[in-house]
Amino acid sequence: MSKLQQRIQKIEENIQAACEKAGRKRSDIHVVAVTKSVSSTRAKEVIDAGFTHLGENRPDGLTEKIEQITDDVNWHFIGNLQSRRVRDIIDHVSHIHSLSRTSIAKEIQKRAENPINCFIQVNVSGEASKSGIAPKELESFIEAMTNYDKVRIVGLMTMAPNIEDEAEIRMIFKEMRALRDRIHALNLPNAPCTELSMGMSNDYEIAIEEGATYVRIGTALVGEESGGD
Ligand SMILES: *Cc1c(COP(=O)(O)O)cnc(C)c1O
Repeated sequence: MSKLQQRIQKIEENIQAACEKAGRKRSDIHVVAVTKSVSSTRAKEVIDAGFTHLGENRPDGLTEKIEQITDDVNWHFIGNLQSRRVRDIIDHVSHIHSLSRTSIAKEIQKRAENPINCFIQVNVSGEASKSGIAPKELESFIEAMTNYDKVRIVGLMTMAPNIEDEAEIRMIFKEMRALRDRIHALNLPNAPCTELSMGMSNDYEIAIEEGATYVRIGTALVGEESGGD
């Protein structure tokens, strides 16, 4: 078995275990394989291994991969987005995970032919280094989004802080779930808000236990090519 296959098998076992622990169905969880730090060749191997959701965090990285990979997969844009780059990615992505500014919504409204699946990025931990809407501003931000019918708010996204304290990470994911439920209950026309994009290489199991429907896994899945694996 290749190193890639071994990593995939391990992740699959961990996901199954987290699902079992939480009484969830495996089919409710989508793995976005984050290929931002690896070549198109490695990304292609990941696709050949059966993954259909791939994530990139820079417009240039995304367009480069799309030029080299013709497979019919879902590309997720997970990084910071500038308004002027919206047009470069808009026709290629199935989901944008990082919507947190009105200027981006305006640009999507202007450029998109069909509604774009967006996650609103929420900064639950309050870290200054992270982008995202503060929880207390979330509801008014999402209400303002009803002006943009090309923005379809499928759910909320967060990045937990890079810390060891599992209890703290779990609290953040729990808060995300509560926020998601609250927005969902508003019944806004363009904000079904049923999904939760949370969990990365270090915390995807906790995220699944706490309700994640999309986990974004990079290094633990795709490896680190510079390290020779
Ligand atoms: C890089 C990245 C990931 C994946 O990170 P890993 O720790 O490598 O799994 C997930 N989400 C976002 C927004 C990222 O930028």
